[in-house]
Amino acid sequence: MSWRGVIEEFRGHLPVTGSTPVVTLLEGNTPLIPAPKLAARLGRGRKLFLKYEGLNPTGSFKDRGMTLAISLALERGAHTVICASTGNTSAAAAAYATRAGMRCAVLLPAKKIARGKLAQALMHGAKAIALKGNFDDALRVVRELGNEPGIAIVNSINPDRIQGQKTAAFEIVRDLGDAPDIHALPVGNAGNITAYWKGYGEFFDQGLSRKRPAMFGFQAAGAAPIVLGHPVKDPETIATAIRIGDPASWEGAAAAIRESGGHIGTVTDEEILAAHYWLASNEGVFVEPASAAGIAGLLKLAASPECPIPDEARIVVTVTGHGLKDPDVAIDNAPGLIKCRADRDKVLKKILADDK
Ligand SMILES: *Cc1c(COP(=O)(O)O)cnc(C)c1O
Repeated sequence: MSWRGVIEEFRGHLPVTGSTPVVTLLEGNTPLIPAPKLAARLGRGRKLFLKYEGLNPTGSFKDRGMTLAISLALERGAHTVICASTGNTSAAAAAYATRAGMRCAVLLPAKKIARGKLAQALMHGAKAIALKGNFDDALRVVRELGNEPGIAIVNSINPDRIQGQKTAAFEIVRDLGDAPDIHALPVGNAGNITAYWKGYGEFFDQGLSRKRPAMFGFQAAGAAPIVLGHPVKDPETIATAIRIGDPASWEGAAAAIRESGGHIGTVTDEEILAAHYWLASNEGVFVEPASAAGIAGLLKLAASPECPIPDEARIVVTVTGHGLKDPDVAIDNAPGLIKCRADRDKVLKKILADDK
């Protein structure tokens, strides 16, 4: 039978009942792509797989949480959903809310939003409200609106989001036959690392896997509150999806790292951009800048003298969103266009030249 979306596929593991209206765009079931060139760069017999979440219906993992959050909000009688967003949450909220026939308002930090994501929120008919301030300011306003009757918050402070997002861990166990040794991913508001750890834990407790992975989270150096141990007032990074100074799921992330014997580290924007281009131009997988933070983090650790990644480790890294989300950064970061006259010999010379 063809894929029915994460609620129907994992119904027994999710807080839904027979009377929950299922709002779905058939999210989930994203590919786990082997990345042999990246594995070779990590060396020491390590194996690497990319969980390519950019192939969800709105182009990021946010769809997994949104199908559940919107379905349950509808069941509880909400007519409007709201969220603060660095972009992808608003794209997913807008799409699923419109599917459900609900009103959607998204609060966005003015300017710091990637063009693809803004296009999505606008095209799906959401009220897109640009706030003076950053993501943390937007989330504060959303929290203050959460008690209004008929309004549901669909940020990851809504536990239904975490429940839906944990399904990615289930799919990885299904595809590998067990949990990996290490699971790496970028960390912003920290909902996703919390969700993966929950998903792996549930399958382990139910005897559906033999082990749980060590969770490796990576924050941008300019937005690294968990690494620093305190909120960051003016977070700054080119990876807008993780430009967050006071993560809502801080506790969840800290628990995942502690309980799994994992690791939390930082990567600079330079390292993020290098991994962003390297992945697209070597493995053929185009992701948005934030999604490259996990790759950058693994490369950095592998090159460090006290690397916590065991030899032969089987590693999964979540690449969280599609590269087309943020075309501006991609174009600025990639080698430029080659200019040439419309002349056969000149074009051929350009094509065969070894330099890029
Ligand atoms: C939301 C998002 C993140 C960060 O996930 P958190 O759950 O906030 O830690 C990373 N990458 C992309 C593409 C995202 O959309």
